[in-house]
Amino acid sequence: MGDRSAARVVVLGAGFAGLRAVRRLARAGMRVLWVDGRNYHCFLPLLYQVATAGLEPQEIAYPARSILRRLPTAEFRLAHVVGGDPVGRTLLTAAGDRLAYDYLIVATGGAAEDFGIPGARDAAFRLYDLEDARLLRNHVLRTLEQAEALDDPAARAALLTFVIVGGGPTGVEMAGALAEFRRHVVPRDYRHFHPDALRIVLLEAGPELLPPFASRLRQRARRDLAERDVEVRTGAKVTRITEDRVELADGETIVTRTTIWAAGIRAAPVSTYLGLPTGRSGRIRVDPTLRVPGYPRVFAAGDVTLVDGAERLPQVAQVAIQQGEHAAENVLRILRGDPALPFAYRDKGSMATIGRSRAVAMIGRWQVAGHLAWLLWLVVHLVMLIGFRNRLVVLVNWAWSYLTYDFGLRAIVGAEPEPGHRIAPAPDAARQRAAGAAS
Ligand SMILES: Cc1cc2nc3c(=O)[nH]c(=O)nc-3n(C[C@H](O)[C@H](O)[C@H](O)COP(=O)(O)OP(=O)(O)OC[C@H]3O[C@@H](n4cnc5c(N)ncnc54)[C@H](O)[C@@H]3O)c2cc1C
Repeated sequence: MGDRSAARVVVLGAGFAGLRAVRRLARAGMRVLWVDGRNYHCFLPLLYQVATAGLEPQEIAYPARSILRRLPTAEFRLAHVVGGDPVGRTLLTAAGDRLAYDYLIVATGGAAEDFGIPGARDAAFRLYDLEDARLLRNHVLRTLEQAEALDDPAARAALLTFVIVGGGPTGVEMAGALAEFRRHVVPRDYRHFHPDALRIVLLEAGPELLPPFASRLRQRARRDLAERDVEVRTGAKVTRITEDRVELADGETIVTRTTIWAAGIRAAPVSTYLGLPTGRSGRIRVDPTLRVPGYPRVFAAGDVTLVDGAERLPQVAQVAIQQGEHAAENVLRILRGDPALPFAYRDKGSMATIGRSRAVAMIGRWQVAGHLAWLLWLVVHLVMLIGFRNRLVVLVNWAWSYLTYDFGLRAIVGAEPEPGHRIAPAPDAARQRAAGAAS
């Protein structure tokens, strides 16, 4: 048993799991240090709307310090963690600082899994944080500007072809949003090419889209996409991506300047630097109580976690939310002298939207598609957003888009990226610098 008033819990990660853990602990009066490499909680499920100019970045981000205003026992530290010593109970930051803890909850989330496919890491866009969404949005808008100014049909066709790899919810939602953009924005903003010239291709290696959904909903999603002229190809295995093409296993090549990678998830890179046992896709292995075996004061929650006996749990927001709360609850139980309890997931359902007025949703045995599912999707996402102001602004934006068929501001903000900047740089350099500084 520990001393509850003196014990310090470090929560690493300000995503869904970290946020819930911090709130639970701080509301119980615990001393908490909340650490993240960015100073805000980001609502990842709406990133694709930022990437397609439906929402602005600040509308889906909420500052960590604002979240802590009414939680006086919790503090925030902006720091990129690059290592850890679970025996000495410290974390190492990129600045070379060591952060000590009595208990640690790791909630560092996921990153794109490239399955070793050449080019998937550096020639494709991906969507894991606001910077990814900003880069992709600028790229799409720049590409359309270039297409406006070109007369060469082949070069223009390459610019106007958008390939999305991965037929899970992110790929489907991205394809649906691009189709809306083509339908409602392109005819009004661009005069030198017809909207039909813009081609959207969704590639899925498996036999169906949206694998976790019921068969009826999977078919419905496919039909909705087809009606919006999205070319859906299942059984399409990508073998190579470059900045101007996607190659498939059957020998076909799709010439494109924009490939969006939405095909897989692995643990955020830091998971392998913390000195903790990892399993499939770099995820931290935990026992059913979410505790790391061999390290009784370390817990993990959310996308970064692989739970013994529940390895198939999906990497979605609800799992992260419930695990964040559960890990915090178990820390409190241990400090009270009670045993930690096993985690049990309560499935509240899944949903995916396919553009305006179309969505599929599965809640328990209830399966719903079309307008009703879309309304449900809107309500659930508004409720889950953090901050009243964000909810209000997003609601106004959505209502505006619905009534006017127009999207948000489509300004290209920020400098043009250097070649190879479709993804963030590898973390190794920062890690080596910090290790040098700390030794
Ligand atoms: C584009 C996209 C769309 C999605 N759509 C849906 C959806 O519709 N429905 C759904 O349920 N789920 C969806 N998900 C999945 C859902 O967002 C995740 O399951 C959820 O965010 C996981 O929460 P988490 O707390 O584990 O990690 P995250 O929310 O990813 O948070 C991890 C945090 O850790 C921080 N971090 C990572 N490494 C370090 C480090 N080294 N140092 C300091 N801080 C670090 C990050 O900055 C981040 O703030 C989507 C995910 C993506 C990417």
